[in-house]
Amino acid sequence: MRESPYPMISVEAAIHIILQHVAPLQPMRMNFVDAWGLVLAEDVYAAEAMPPFAASAVDGYAVIAADPSPIRRVIGAQPAGAMGTLIVTPGSAVHVMTGAPLPAGADAVVMIEHTSLEGDGYVRLHTQPDAGDNVRPIGQDVAAGQLVLSRGTVLGAAEVGLLATIGKTHIAVYPRPRVAVFSTGDELVDPHEPLKPGQIRDANRYSLLSAVREAGGQPLDWGRIPDRAEAVQEALESALREADAVLTSGGVSMGELDLIKPYLAERGTIHFGRVRARPGKPVTFATVNGVPVFAMPGFPVSALVSFEVYVRPALLKMAGHTHLHRPRQRVILEHAVRHEPDRTEFQRAVVTHHPDGRYTAHTTGYQGSGRLLSMVGANALLVLPAEQEMFPVGSEVEAWLIAPVREEEAPANS
Ligand code: AMP
Ligand code: MG
Repeated sequence: MRESPYPMISVEAAIHIILQHVAPLQPMRMNFVDAWGLVLAEDVYAAEAMPPFAASAVDGYAVIAADPSPIRRVIGAQPAGAMGTLIVTPGSAVHVMTGAPLPAGADAVVMIEHTSLEGDGYVRLHTQPDAGDNVRPIGQDVAAGQLVLSRGTVLGAAEVGLLATIGKTHIAVYPRPRVAVFSTGDELVDPHEPLKPGQIRDANRYSLLSAVREAGGQPLDWGRIPDRAEAVQEALESALREADAVLTSGGVSMGELDLIKPYLAERGTIHFGRVRARPGKPVTFATVNGVPVFAMPGFPVSALVSFEVYVRPALLKMAGHTHLHRPRQRVILEHAVRHEPDRTEFQRAVVTHHPDGRYTAHTTGYQGSGRLLSMVGANALLVLPAEQEMFPVGSEVEAWLIAPVREEEAPANS
């Protein structure tokens, strides 16, 4: 019996160790238009109020609310975009456009839909307004000096729009982690190549490059590396020099040509080399001069599930995120599930949310570590704890939601 020298640790311990060894990257300043998807590294305050002037919220007539006369003389129009000189007095009104500054003297706007023209430059009001009606006061949306976005905020569409509103064009953000990705294996050829006997196509480099992108990182394609010590070393060394993190596939098992672990052990510190999980038992995490190296097993599902469980939270932390984990949901099994109780197993599944509030799950079929089709269309990983072998239909297990839950539509009533 030849045993791996690496102790087998729990999934939770592995995630904990990784998060202890990765830190947010050095923030950088950039133009806000390029910052979508990034995490803010500073508190942002609004210098000015929004709106900066009292503005009409509708198309209509600016009036004095306390003026009881139903008919007002229209003394002019106030468009949006400039301050006017018209002054509203008792008995008069100014035609205003949405977003126009409220003319001096006026304290309310009557919507155009609630008025009729009386001919000869007069308007009839069909409602008696209250002061402030349809007026957006200064600072209604944002007060001058207000904290509008805190450090740690993820910049989505609304946040980018808010930065534009307040004129904050340069901001400090955490950069996207640059992740060098390479695959190892003498059996591998590129996707466009025909297969010779004994060869297979390199899937993992492409799935992992995509997974890095999905996790908000900047993937760097470091190529396909043969199982030769010098080639592996060269790839690792150049990646360590130029990337914030290194992600490899293959070569972490017990074979003669599994060269990744020995080299990492020589060059840096291997924090773990085996996890009590299926798939992905030989997943390995090391640091070399502070740069994290994530070594995924070669089976395509092992590589992708290991990325999801161990690497994604780390990349999120490096990118400044504070919410690192997928949402977890108890789900009801739609069919019986059995598994080998020696390790925690992550089965790929489809979770559905039903109109009665229940969440149910079915697996994606044969769960072999080579079968990428078991990952295709999956929106969850079912976490089957070690020690329990049988999960009968209707039993409840934990699911990690890796994509939006499928929403079952309630049947139409007619
Ligand atoms: P390894 O972890 O290198 O021992 O590889 C385990 C299994 O995964 C072997 O059957 C490999 O042929 C397969 N494999 C390794 N790397 C890849 C890859 N990049 N794409 C697809 N399959 C791979
Ligand atoms: Mg290999």
